[in-house]
Amino acid sequence: MSVAWRISLILLLVLLAAGAGALIDGYPGAVMAALLVLVGVVVRDSLALSRLIRWLRAPEATPTPKGSGAWAEVFYRASRQLRLWTGRVGYEESKLHRFIEALQVSPNGVILLDENNQIDWCNATAAQHFGLDVQRDLRQHAVHLIRNPEFVAYLQAGHFHEPLHMHRAGSRAQFTLSVQIFPYGDQQKLLLSQDITQLERTEAMRRDFVANVSHEIKTPLTVLGGFVETMRDMPLDDTQRLRVLDMMQAQSDRMRHLVDDLLVLARLEGDPYPPAEVVIDMPSMMTQYQNEALALSSGRHRIGMEVRTDLWVRGSPQELHSALSNLVSNAVRYTPDGGSIHLQWDAVFVDDKPRWAEFSVIDTGIGIAAEHIPRLTERFYRVDRGRSRESGGTGLGLAIAKHVLLRHQAELLVHSTPGKGSRFVVRFPAARLAPAGTPSAANAAENALKAA
Ligand code: ADP
Repeated sequence: MSVAWRISLILLLVLLAAGAGALIDGYPGAVMAALLVLVGVVVRDSLALSRLIRWLRAPEATPTPKGSGAWAEVFYRASRQLRLWTGRVGYEESKLHRFIEALQVSPNGVILLDENNQIDWCNATAAQHFGLDVQRDLRQHAVHLIRNPEFVAYLQAGHFHEPLHMHRAGSRAQFTLSVQIFPYGDQQKLLLSQDITQLERTEAMRRDFVANVSHEIKTPLTVLGGFVETMRDMPLDDTQRLRVLDMMQAQSDRMRHLVDDLLVLARLEGDPYPPAEVVIDMPSMMTQYQNEALALSSGRHRIGMEVRTDLWVRGSPQELHSALSNLVSNAVRYTPDGGSIHLQWDAVFVDDKPRWAEFSVIDTGIGIAAEHIPRLTERFYRVDRGRSRESGGTGLGLAIAKHVLLRHQAELLVHSTPGKGSRFVVRFPAARLAPAGTPSAANAAENALKAA
């Protein structure tokens, strides 16, 4: 028992003793004194009680009341308990707030439905997926707001073990949602939605790619099979046999090119790292491209070149060679005999600093209609299938070029007029350029080793 309570008890005992003494001995003065003390105690307790009630009504706004004796302990313990509860509620509130914040940043939509399928809560992603208003639509029935017949049937059927794929119209384009419901608690439901538009697109591309590769490989295989049959079943003289063997060789070369290109593409797509950087002597590379064009053309075209000699490029020599020489070989392959092909290496300078540099291949070939241009870098996209095959194309050259250029932060620009010719331009940003003669980091390390 604390001191305050002990004092209160002693006071009460004294009061009782005085009262009893007064009654027995008949002292009216003592009776008056006892009554006065009693009134004093009642008044003190009433005041303290009303202070306590006033404080409990608004504990944050009112200072903790002060009291004497036992009341001091009452006030102290009440305020301590209140502080403890306030702290605990604050902690729980901040936990709930963090939990809701985490659900808000989720890339998936989250909706909580009550036992009547009314919306209890939803995050911003769900609001965007289903066109909901986070405030206005609370307590609304889900099927009144999400009216897709597939969704209504899914919710009513109650078979939630599989997700539902829903097509929806957004402000800009159609998109596909994967929606799944998970029952919990007392008939409540958690609805999760995920935008799978990109996933569906990638899956469709993968299916197209497998179909295309199978088709591309099947064609030369069928032709080869036909030649094998011819050689086995028909008596051929030496000249005929040699001709058939040449054609078989051409088909097997075609398959090999295709597989080589597929491997290059797989490597480029699977390797997330930027290419190893070496400083490439572009003027020398340009001479190499010109020689390759001359060899491929065998005198059927005029081939010119214009090269600035003060700028080199940072990047992977192998990757850039495969991308740029593909543009050169395309120009030769898609330009009829007698046409011309021009190679260019030039740059734009601002305040004596290169802003960008451009590698261009300009031809006077068959050209490309505008509607095909955005699709040229798709795998196996060809404007003229027959012409591409005839000239040994795999349909993968520009897809490879696009990947390589992306890895070098370079851009491919295509300008073309059907019947007149095309201009393929590769624009390298300033960060990829180096003054002629800059030693490569790899070369510098090699030279340092030699010098040591
Ligand atoms: P391909 O192996 O078929 O040449 P590419 O990916 O290199 O494949 O090119 C894709 C398509 O772009 C070609 O099939 C062709 O139709 C078109 N093309 C590319 N370069 C040129 C060009 N210089 N002139 C006209 N058409 C071109």
